[in-house]
Amino acid sequence: MLRADAIAGDTVTVVGPRERTLGSALYSDRSQIALRMLARGGEPAGLDLWKGRLDRAVRFREHLGIAASACRLVHGEADLLPALIVDRYDRWLVVQALAQGVDRLLPEITQLLVERLQPEGILARNDPRVRLLEGLEQTVAVLHGGIPDTIRVQENGVQFEVDLRRGQKTGLFLDQRENRAAAGGYAEGRVLDCFSYHGGFALAVARRAVEVVALDSSADAVDRIRRNAALNGIANVTAREVNVFDELRQLERSGERFDQIVLDPPAFAKNKAAVPKAIAGYKEINLRALRLLRPGGTLVTCSCSYNVNEALFLDIIHEAALDAHAPVTMLEKRMQARDHPVLVGVPETYYLKCVILRRLE
Ligand code: SAH
Repeated sequence: MLRADAIAGDTVTVVGPRERTLGSALYSDRSQIALRMLARGGEPAGLDLWKGRLDRAVRFREHLGIAASACRLVHGEADLLPALIVDRYDRWLVVQALAQGVDRLLPEITQLLVERLQPEGILARNDPRVRLLEGLEQTVAVLHGGIPDTIRVQENGVQFEVDLRRGQKTGLFLDQRENRAAAGGYAEGRVLDCFSYHGGFALAVARRAVEVVALDSSADAVDRIRRNAALNGIANVTAREVNVFDELRQLERSGERFDQIVLDPPAFAKNKAAVPKAIAGYKEINLRALRLLRPGGTLVTCSCSYNVNEALFLDIIHEAALDAHAPVTMLEKRMQARDHPVLVGVPETYYLKCVILRRLE
């Protein structure tokens, strides 16, 4: 039951049948998710609750022994901090407030982060489109200290240059860190990294490969792959500005073969209506990649569409393997990195699937 005088972004008391207090929640007057539960029963849902949960979220990441200077510190619902994202990039933080209630609390949350972590700067990357569903504007603003135009972070010993204001997501795809390391374990010979962005996978596998070809349709991304390769003194990575769908066909026509292929496309199914087209897209790239793969080679194939669940993704892979006449074994079934945990019971939080396959013949 909602009180008629609740205002957008209020922390409200949720009352069940027979006037029983169920807990506290953040209220949104626009989203289909009207209430995001914060606390159960009569537990207070003030700033102390946010402070305690922020501290626990940070301590958990500190405990993981992450081999990188960039990682996610707060992953929203999965840290019981609904609609709040906090990513660390070395000495800087990037936050996202994805619901009215968190947006309203952002000054207090900023203060708590400053006290706990003493960052040199905090940037609000409040430009994701989901904010529009909350009736919130899309903005990018410095909340504390200063944010340089580019900063450098390292992941598994590889340096990356990041533009926190303009990069995708909060700058990098931090959720793939552990999958990049896993891919590195199988790298050899010629590697093809499709949808490379800033060369995350390409640079992670380069030291174990003879040659890496990185593909991305964005000129800025390709430029950044080249600069990141140079930054690391890596000379065996070539980056090409192409459409992966066209290029896979072209590579097949010219008879090229690879020992490892990575497929990490953007979410093809951003909503349920897009699922049929997404299935066709995933099927196509997986089929073509399997054809380009030498027997004995590995395919690292990902989907970050939560509307395509694991079972469906595995079905698509199976069909692609049948059509490619490529018998494959599954070596690893992976997901987003542990600093982006899945909240059991909330399937939307299991969005990133990463399957590592070996082509037998
Ligand atoms: N693998 C990357 C993240 C990939 S994000 C990492 O580890 O960091 C998806 C990338 O796909 C974006 O950089 C986007 O520019 C690119 N992209 C989207 N559609 C594409 C297409 N049809 N062909 C090539 N690249 C595409």
